[in-house]
Amino acid sequence: LRSGFRKCSSLRFLLTPSSERQFSAQTGSKLEGKVALITGAASGIGKETARKFINNGAKVVLADIQKDQGHETALELGPNATFIPCDVTKESEISQAVDFTISKHNQLDIMYNNAGIACQTPQSIVDLDLATFDRVMAINVRGVVAGIKHGARVMIPRQRGVILCTASVTGLMGGLSQHTYSISKSGVIGIVKSAASEMCQHGIRINCISPMAIPTPFVIDELKNYYPGVDYEGLVQMVHGFSVLKGAVCEPSDIANAAVFLASDDAKFISGHNLVVDGGFTSFKSLSLPTP
Ligand code: NAD
Repeated sequence: LRSGFRKCSSLRFLLTPSSERQFSAQTGSKLEGKVALITGAASGIGKETARKFINNGAKVVLADIQKDQGHETALELGPNATFIPCDVTKESEISQAVDFTISKHNQLDIMYNNAGIACQTPQSIVDLDLATFDRVMAINVRGVVAGIKHGARVMIPRQRGVILCTASVTGLMGGLSQHTYSISKSGVIGIVKSAASEMCQHGIRINCISPMAIPTPFVIDELKNYYPGVDYEGLVQMVHGFSVLKGAVCEPSDIANAAVFLASDDAKFISGHNLVVDGGFTSFKSLSLPTP
């Protein structure tokens, strides 16, 4: 039987046009038949998550403020990826992205509110630029709330669905980044808990993921401001240097794997949770004992 199936699979592969074949790197079926909308999906964590979702059988709508890069990413990910321009600070654009997903695929199973930024601000809270604070909150917090609102709007009538959000280890511990970003990510963790209390009454699960530092474009751009003399490779090494887990560094695929898990039925009883992906970084502080 097994060899028959193998022959069938090879036949199917040979019959698939080569243009489609390059995209069919199927690695699992945890999200077979599911439809996902991911914000901030033109690059970094969102892009890698879209790739893993598709490789697990999902169709994905990528929503991002970067139009050219969003289109390029959708082309790269193949026929199961579609791009829609979307600025998460505009509620109407999130609402349209949700409606577009429904009109294209008839359903929305997974709403992943991932778009986020960090802005360079003076370090001290005394010098905090409140206009910058408002801008970060508009994307990292208000944008997430709007995504939950409109995701829930179409999921509640079906009494099922999964909502994911990207928080951060900086929302768990003070001192890891500037106040504005930390505060925004603490907000995401709080929003998820608050929304979970209502969503559970509708069979909808909502969780967030808190990544450790990963050298994605916004992190590198931010570091460039502090270390103008260090080249790209140097900055990547700097970010990877934060890892406390020997032999491993945090990569977009680690977050994408967590997202596939939380979006799939493997996590069917997990809601209101903050899945920290940090190699243990926030779990302990090593003490160097004073010598007597
Ligand atoms: P990234 O810069 O590669 O991706 C962020 C994406 O969000 C970009 O494609 C950008 O165009 C998009 N975006 C920005 N503003 C937007 C808006 N108003 N509307 C729609 N899209 C918008 O960075 P990333 O690391 O992949 O970031 C994804 C998420 O992960 C963010 O929420 C970030 O805060 C979070 N995060 C990142 C790290 C890290 O170290 N990279 C760590 C913890 C959390």
